[in-house]
Amino acid sequence: MNTGVIATKVCKACRQEKPLGEFYVQVRPGLRDATMTVCKECHRERVKRATAERKKKSRLSWRASHSTTSVRSVRCKR
Ligand SMILES: [Zn+2]
Repeated sequence: MNTGVIATKVCKACRQEKPLGEFYVQVRPGLRDATMTVCKECHRERVKRATAERKKKSRLSWRASHSTTSVRSVRCKR
């Protein structure tokens, strides 16, 4: 059975036309087009990069706040 037109959307990140099934659906009241503007693949990449970035930042800030205050804990006595 051929249903004819498949709804597609152009991803804002990779500029590729993909079927709507390749996009995540946002649940937000009042939003007519509930699908996200970036495809699942690009969204996953974004999330991965964002978490890596956040981890890097938090590690840096942790080091900054601990390097001056807890010098003693670094030297471990046996
Ligand atoms: Zn994409």
